[in-house]
Amino acid sequence: MQKSILGLVIALLCCVPALSQQVQRNPVGQTALRQIIPGHYVFSSGTFNSGIIVTSEGVVVLDALNSEAAGRAERDAIANMIRQPVRALVSSTFHNNYTKGNLAFADVWKIGHENYRTDLLQLMQREKVSAEEQKARLPDQTFRDRVTLHLGGKEIQILYVGRAHTRGDSIIYVPQDRIVYLSELFFADQFLYIDDGYGLDWLKALDAVEGLGAEIFVPAHGPIPADPRETRQGLVRFRQMLVDIRDAVQKEIARGATEDQAVATVRWPQYEKMQAYNAQREVAVRRFYRQLTGALP
Ligand SMILES: [Zn+2]
Repeated sequence: MQKSILGLVIALLCCVPALSQQVQRNPVGQTALRQIIPGHYVFSSGTFNSGIIVTSEGVVVLDALNSEAAGRAERDAIANMIRQPVRALVSSTFHNNYTKGNLAFADVWKIGHENYRTDLLQLMQREKVSAEEQKARLPDQTFRDRVTLHLGGKEIQILYVGRAHTRGDSIIYVPQDRIVYLSELFFADQFLYIDDGYGLDWLKALDAVEGLGAEIFVPAHGPIPADPRETRQGLVRFRQMLVDIRDAVQKEIARGATEDQAVATVRWPQYEKMQAYNAQREVAVRRFYRQLTGALP
């Protein structure tokens, strides 16, 4: 009798997933579901993070990942370990690396900023994506300033804080847990991607984020420290990067440099070891140069 109870306990223990450390291997590469604080998770594929807000009436996901397979892996992890239905998918950037995964959420209510919808539609038309895929990836609901979901007693604020990484980014703030999911407004200890971004607005957007009163800031890219409150320092470092980029380009403009001369001159040695620095240094100079000189409205 005692033996069988012991066996049962062992069997139960084996079945209980250690959510904070759960790592799965699957065809999309290494993925991991990690609890940040109770009720809040990040599903990561490589350095890409997707946010998961859990309530007693289902979950809200921020940003599907870069393929249907990765999106499917996330849904499997939610189904197997969180065991709640996905009630909504909020998408921030329209770029493929966070919207191809929408295909795995075809049955889920999708929400995004109105500029996100416009830009995603244009991108898919340019890439001659099938009508069926377009329908599966596009949002069902758009918004201009904010939309608030009330789910399982949780207030989930989906906010537009102005142009930043794109002109249609969304962030999600959950006031009762003082956690904000910043999507690609926040590259943690990585150089930023700014091909479609607006650096000066990005700084203002981060100021608006600061005003929310959050304690935890979840990035779309990069690691989250063991103590998630340390994400604040990471965000401060990221904001400083934007300031350093702006100031260096502004200095060249003040000296009368053309855009190409600024590209030839401006370097940020303190960031050159970061992922994406080589690919994005020139892009960052050009985008800031154009905004600072009024060429990019
Ligand atoms: Zn993006």
